[in-house]
Amino acid sequence: MIDPFEHWQEQAACAKPANRDKIELFFSNKKADQRAAKDICWTCPVMTQCIKSALENKHIEGVWGGLDSRQIRRTLSVNWDGQEIRRKRFPKCPSCDARTLDLITKTVERPNGGRWATMRVVECTDCGFEWQSRTSANAVDAYHAQRAERMIRAEKDIAKKRAASRRKKAASAKKSEPK
Ligand code: SF4
Ligand SMILES: [Zn+2]
Repeated sequence: MIDPFEHWQEQAACAKPANRDKIELFFSNKKADQRAAKDICWTCPVMTQCIKSALENKHIEGVWGGLDSRQIRRTLSVNWDGQEIRRKRFPKCPSCDARTLDLITKTVERPNGGRWATMRVVECTDCGFEWQSRTSANAVDAYHAQRAERMIRAEKDIAKKRAASRRKKAASAKKSEPK
C-alpha cells in the first residue's frame, strides 16, 4: 500500500518545474521573499503533510508548509539552535490558526520507540491537526488550567455579589416593616 505521507513530496508545488528557480525564496531572510514562498505553499496540495514533516523533523530554517522559521520555532517552542525553551505565548494551531482554546493535549505511543515509549502531542479540535511538542503541550495544559481557575473565581464573585444583594434586600425589607 502506498503511504500518502511517504510520497507527498512528489506533489510538492515547490518542486514543480515552474517553481524550481524560486527555491531561494524559501530560504531568504527577506520578508517579501518569505511571503512569495508562502504564496506558493498556499497553492500546494500537500501543505498539511509538509507542516507536519517540518514540525516532526524540526526544520527550523526556511519556509515549510506555509510557515516561516519564526512560526515553526514558536509552534515547537524551540530557540534558534532547536533547543526547547519555555513559551512566552500560548500556541495556535499551525495548520488552521485556531486559538489555544481549541487545542487539547494527549499522550500517544511513540511511532519509532526510542528512549520513552510515549510522547505528548497537541491536537487541534477544529481541524484535527496534531503535532508533537512537549513544551507546547505544557503551555496548552497551563492555558486550560488558568482558564478553569479564572472561571471558578468569576463564579465565586457572582455568588458573592448575589448573596450581598440578597442581604441588602432583606435588610431594606426589614426596615420598611411596620413597627
Ligand atoms: S507546502 Fe510549501 S514548502 Fe511544503 S511542499 Fe508545498 S510548496 Fe513546498
Ligand atoms: Zn487547526
